[in-house]
Amino acid sequence: MRKFTVTALCALALVVTGVQAQTVKDFMAAVMKKWTTPFEPFQLIGNIYYVGTDGISAYIIKSSQGLILLDTALPESTGMIKANIAKLGFKLGDIKIILNSHAHFDHTGGLAEIKKDTGAPLVAGERDKPLLEGGYYPGDEKNADLAFPPVKVDRAVKEGDVVTLGDTTLTAHAMPGHSPGCTSWEMTVKDSGQDRDVLFFCSGTVALNKLVGQPTYPGIVDDYRSTFAKAKAMKVDVLLGPHPEVYGMQEKRAQMKDGAPNPFVKPGELQTYVAGLEQDFDKQLAKQTAALEKAK
Ligand SMILES: [Zn+2]
Repeated sequence: MRKFTVTALCALALVVTGVQAQTVKDFMAAVMKKWTTPFEPFQLIGNIYYVGTDGISAYIIKSSQGLILLDTALPESTGMIKANIAKLGFKLGDIKIILNSHAHFDHTGGLAEIKKDTGAPLVAGERDKPLLEGGYYPGDEKNADLAFPPVKVDRAVKEGDVVTLGDTTLTAHAMPGHSPGCTSWEMTVKDSGQDRDVLFFCSGTVALNKLVGQPTYPGIVDDYRSTFAKAKAMKVDVLLGPHPEVYGMQEKRAQMKDGAPNPFVKPGELQTYVAGLEQDFDKQLAKQTAALEKAK
C-alpha cells in the first residue's frame, strides 16, 4: 500500500478541513484497498467494456478498426488492466489509440507502459499535457509521492475536437477544475437498436486541490464553476466516470440481465450527480477559506 496519498491528504485535511488525521488515514486505507482490488471485466453497453479495478475505471471501446483504451489506474494495477483486456478476448496489440481523462496518478499510472507495449498514440487535454509529460501533480511538481511515470502526449485536444477510429468517434469536452486539462469524452453507442449518448465524465471533485491562498493552479475556482454549468446543460443517456462510485457501476452491473433494459441507461443522472458535486465544492471552498482566514 502506498503511504503518499495518506500523507498528502492528511496534511491537506488538517490544514484545510480540520479532519482528524487518523480518520483520514483510515479512509485512505479503505480507498487504496478498493482502488487496487480486481473487478471482473464486462461489456458495459454497446461497444464499451469496463476493464478497470473495483475503485478506478478504465475502458476499452471496440471500433471496426481496433481498440481505444480510456485511462489506466495506479502503476501497480497495470498488469490487472492488461489481464482484464485479455479476459474479454481482446489483444493488447489491437489498441490503436489511448485516451486520458485527466493527469492524476490514479488514472495515468499505466499509460507509459501500455503506450510502450502497443505503440498507440496518447490523446489528452491540452492543459494536462505538461503534467502528463512531467509526471507530476499540478501545483505540487516536486512531490514524488504524487508522481507517476511521465508519458508523451501525441495529440493535445481542446473543446470540440474529435478522435475517430473506424466506425467510432469520440468528442472531447474541456471540463477543467479537477485538473486544468480535465477532458470528458462523449460518444454514441447502439443499445437494443437505439442510439444512446454516453459521457465519460472527467471528474469534478475537489480531491487534493487547493482552491484558495496558493491555489493548485490560477483560475481553478472559476474553472470548476464553468464545468458544473456546462455539465448541467448536457443531455446524455449514460453517465460513466473515472471512479465506479460516480455512476454506481457495481450496483448497475449487478442489475444487468439478458433481455432486460441496460441499467446504465439513466437520462438525468449527470445533472443529479453534478448538483451533488457542486454542493460539495461549495462546502470545501468555505472550509478552505475559513482555514486560510484562521491561519492569518
Ligand atoms: Zn483525479
